[in-house]
Amino acid sequence: MTTTMHRSHRVAGALVGSAVGDALGAPFEFGPAGAFSARFPVPARGVETEMCGGGSLGWEPGEFTDDTQMALLVATSLVERGGLDEADLFDRFRTWAQADPPDIGIQTRAVLASGLPWDVAAADHSTRTGRAAGNGSLMRTTPAAIRFSRDGTQATMDAARRISALTHGDPSAGEGCAVFHELVRVALDGGDPLAAVPAALDQVAPEHRPRWAAVLDPHWTPADATEANGAVWPTLGQAVWALRHGRDFAEVLRLVVDLGGDTDTVAAVSGGLAGAVHGMGGIPMRWSSVVHGKVPGFGDRRWGLADLQQLAAALDGGALQSYDPGVIPRIGPREVLPGIWAGNLDGARYSEADFAVISLCRLGDPFPHEVHRMAYLADNDLNADVDTVLTDVLDDMAALRADGRRILVHCHGGASRTGLVLRGWLVREEGMSVAEATGHVAERWEHLGLWNDSFTAALHRLERSR
Ligand SMILES: [Mg+2]
Repeated sequence: MTTTMHRSHRVAGALVGSAVGDALGAPFEFGPAGAFSARFPVPARGVETEMCGGGSLGWEPGEFTDDTQMALLVATSLVERGGLDEADLFDRFRTWAQADPPDIGIQTRAVLASGLPWDVAAADHSTRTGRAAGNGSLMRTTPAAIRFSRDGTQATMDAARRISALTHGDPSAGEGCAVFHELVRVALDGGDPLAAVPAALDQVAPEHRPRWAAVLDPHWTPADATEANGAVWPTLGQAVWALRHGRDFAEVLRLVVDLGGDTDTVAAVSGGLAGAVHGMGGIPMRWSSVVHGKVPGFGDRRWGLADLQQLAAALDGGALQSYDPGVIPRIGPREVLPGIWAGNLDGARYSEADFAVISLCRLGDPFPHEVHRMAYLADNDLNADVDTVLTDVLDDMAALRADGRRILVHCHGGASRTGLVLRGWLVREEGMSVAEATGHVAERWEHLGLWNDSFTAALHRLERSR
């Protein structure tokens, strides 16, 4: 592939990837190493996925925890205040802490409950206890890493330190956030964050540099950690180690959750960085589609995938707009291939609830279906990751069919993206050539649209890779 990934895919990938990691790791928090792979030895793509919920705090499947709750406070403050307003952000943190969130870091709670003003509370706590280098400021910093990425190395690292210092008085935590910001900045620009580690370390305050250099060294492994991963050093060390060793987003996340310990936080950090590298299309749709949660103290709003994507775009300088496709005449659903139905947006929205729905376009309001997967695919030739997304969709469809589900594939018009997936199914599952598959679908689905040459090219690659 020669297409370079559009920046917006990486920006959305970072914010959604962090929330996905948080929700994926939450049920395994404080568990032993290897628990994730013991439970899910192979990818779980059917009705039941690795987003299993549970854990000691009884999370819903896909529900994010305090890591993402605090990240959303950072994100909304940055967007609504037009930049960093520490007093405003500290106020939001405090409102959230007072609403009794199900999970909150010990240090964060102590600082926010102190009653002291924003510019002294964390330093006071750190001076009194000597403990302040937890991972609780690193876990929430992905939105700020997006927001300040366009301002360059110095500005983004400086913002990281200032936001960290609101709850974490130990500058070690701030330096870790600063390194994370710089690595995300490089990744969002399409660079290699692993290659950028030495230059980022040069920007770390000299007294903190050796300890950070140790955990970010290419030869460091989680077995070399000198603290549990509730501390800031091994948390970032593990995230970078996993990015080095995982081939794709799913493998990176599997590696970190399998380390055990503070799994939601390490996976949130790791998911933010890996999402910036692999982009929105690299995140398995069975994970991104179900990620959700509320922010205690801030009303009943339920944050889902589309909200996170919109917020990510706003953090990167776009407008904060919700997407309302309006009402369109329904097409379908109709069974086009055995067990596989097709439709357009409203044909799918108002379909029977037992369909496993695969959405290939933006939706507006979420659907009521219990099994609903949303793939990240635009009907243009800018999908650098179309092969990855198509494979993810076809793999999930095969697993859902094996679970006995009727599948309903749709996009806005039910023409081009829907046609890509129907044809891809025949190429991969029935061994047809692209020409045969196209003819087969055209005979059964008169809405088939063939204008996107990049989709047909992807099908030819799929045919050759069989
Ligand atoms: Mg948590």
